[in-house]
Parts: sequence; structure tokens; C-alpha cells
Amino acid sequence: MASNQSGIALKNDVSEQTPAAFDFRSDTVTTPTPSMLQSILSIATHGDDVFHEDSTTNALESFITTLTGKPAAVFVLSGTMGNQLSIRSHLAQPPHSILLDQRCHIYNYEAGGAAVLSQAQITPVTPANGMYLTLDEVRAAVVDSDDIHYAPTRLICLENSLNGVIMPLEEIRRITAYARRKGIKMHLDGARLWNVVAAGGGDLKEIIAEFDSVSLCFSKGLGAPMGSVVVGEEAFVQRVRHFRKMVGGGTRQCGIATAPARTAIEEVFLGGGKLKVPCDTNMVWLDLESLGVDADDIPMEAQRAGLKWDWERIVVHHQICDEAIGKLEDVLRKLAEKARARGGMLPEGKKARARYTQPDDE
Ligand SMILES: *Cc1c(COP(=O)(O)O)cnc(C)c1O
Repeated sequence: MASNQSGIALKNDVSEQTPAAFDFRSDTVTTPTPSMLQSILSIATHGDDVFHEDSTTNALESFITTLTGKPAAVFVLSGTMGNQLSIRSHLAQPPHSILLDQRCHIYNYEAGGAAVLSQAQITPVTPANGMYLTLDEVRAAVVDSDDIHYAPTRLICLENSLNGVIMPLEEIRRITAYARRKGIKMHLDGARLWNVVAAGGGDLKEIIAEFDSVSLCFSKGLGAPMGSVVVGEEAFVQRVRHFRKMVGGGTRQCGIATAPARTAIEEVFLGGGKLKVPCDTNMVWLDLESLGVDADDIPMEAQRAGLKWDWERIVVHHQICDEAIGKLEDVLRKLAEKARARGGMLPEGKKARARYTQPDDE
């Protein structure tokens, strides 16, 4: 246990490993570092953010505008809130529709929010390359007609990274150029855009410049306790603030959340190491079926080894330790041995699990 100037004991001292060090399920499990916790006591101011009077929060928002190159930023409580308020703020009155990747978070894991909050029809598109949408696919699916039968596409939502895969900046540029010609707004769910930039998938400002709005998450790869931020033009962000208040997302002394968020960016993103060679980001999707590995064996084998890991996706984050990687290798070896003993076939009567059906995502 470390203690700070005020003598309050801080859990999660670097000498004590966080449980996240052995957890491969998601990067949402990262825990605040001692300096993030310290920032709550030593940096956070206690002004009321609904009155715009919390300097820590105002400074974070202003720091984010410098970092992203957008004129305005607003702190929100979660990535879902950031996406949903952005969608609500872009769209005016139905009929209207949103075009997006069928596998994305907004479509699958936000409780159908776009239908409820924005009365939007969704046009989900499945990318043929299995990785990212292309302009041709977008163009083929966009609803671009005055015909009264249709709900015209007013917004395209992309996600980067999606399932850990980077969307090439060139493809984003093609889609955005097309959307601008058509008067369609562009939103980016950039919950893991930090990972894209860290992995060499483009410059933060250059990627963000292609979008009318972007939401970025503090609590996943960066490891802050909570929160996301939405960036865009002044008038747009003002609308987001209005809707944030409407859904109860205006908070009072939120310096205790924005101080560690600032520390998280400085420490984990700006202070992080660089890769020599670009790699796709922090998720590995295993093709278990082709090896005959039974996915149901994973949780038990992982638990035996002292790990948390439960299906075909492996997620790493800044708190995974070397020892956990060694243990993961052992588990993978065990699973492969079991499969080999069955002749590389799944146990009788078992079918491969459907892809992208996790119990709750993130
Ligand atoms: C986790 C996630 C969100 C939602 O974030 P919450 O803070 O869990 O609401 C949105 N988009 C993507 C791509 C995510 O991974």
C-alpha cells in the first residue's frame, strides 16, 4: 500500500499487482494506477461542471481540443453515452437512417439506443473483407433518394479499431469525401482510437479531421476509472451538452473523474512506448474451430492457470504482466494438446460457437 500526502492509503501500489494483470477478457478491466488515484486528491478541483465551473474538467476538455484538433470537447460518463448523444445531436427529424458496420458497438451493444433516442432506422452493412467497410459497400447501401418510401441516410458511423482491426485511413478518406458530397455526417466511435494511433494506424488529428464527431474512451486502453469524451464543432458540442443534461449525464464535482482521465492520457497514451513496426492493436481472435479446440474448455483451463479468459478473443492492455503471458502460453498449449488427442476435431455433438456473440460486450 502506498500512501499520499494526506496519509490516505492507496491500493494498487505498483509493487502490488492489480488483478487486471492476469485478465485477458477485456481492456475494460484495467484499474486506475496509483498516479491516477493520486490525481483525484492532488489535482482535482471541486467546481460544479453543470455550471461549467470545474477547472479540472474545463482544462481536460481544452487539452483534448489541442490533442485532437477539433474546436470543442465535452466529457461524458461512458462510451455509450458519447455515441448516443452524438447520434442524437447530428440527426434532426425522422425519417432518417444511419449506415454502419453490422459488427459495430453502436448497433450491437448499446441497447438499441439509436432507435429510442434518435428514432433512427439502421442500415447495417457486412464488410466482404471481414475487416472494414469500403467505399463501394457504403455507396451501395446508402439511401440517397427523395422517394417517400425510404429513410435517407443522414449519418455514417464508423468504428476504429473494430474487433482490434485498424481501418485504413485511405478508406476512411474515401468514405468521408463521398459523404461530404452527399451532405451525410460522419461519426467515429473511437473508443479504441488511442490503440490505433499507438499501433501506427495514423495520426490522431489526421484521423479525427475526417469526422464531424468522434467519441474517445478513457477507461479502456488508457485505464482511467471512467468516462469518455466527444469532440466536434462548437455548435455540435453545445447540442451534445444539452442532450447530456437531458439524459442525466450532467454531473457536479466531476473533477474526481476528469483528473485521472487526464493522467491516463499523459501516462498511458502520450507517455507510452512506440512500436517499430505497425501491428494491429490489442486483440487476438483465435480460429479455434480449425484446430478443433473446444471453446468451453477455455474458462476452466484459464482459471486453473490463475487467469481470467473465457472465449475466442484475447485482449491485452497496459497492465498485463509477463507472468500472465507465460501462463497464457501454457493454457494455449494445453488446449491444443486436448484438441490433438481428439484428432483435431471438436468433441462429438459440438458445433463451433457463432462468432461475435459475446455475453456482454465491450
Ligand atoms: C466499450 C465500447 C463502447 C462503449 O463504452 P462504455 O463506456 O462501455 O459505454 C463503445 N464503442 C466501442 C467500440 C467500445 O468498445
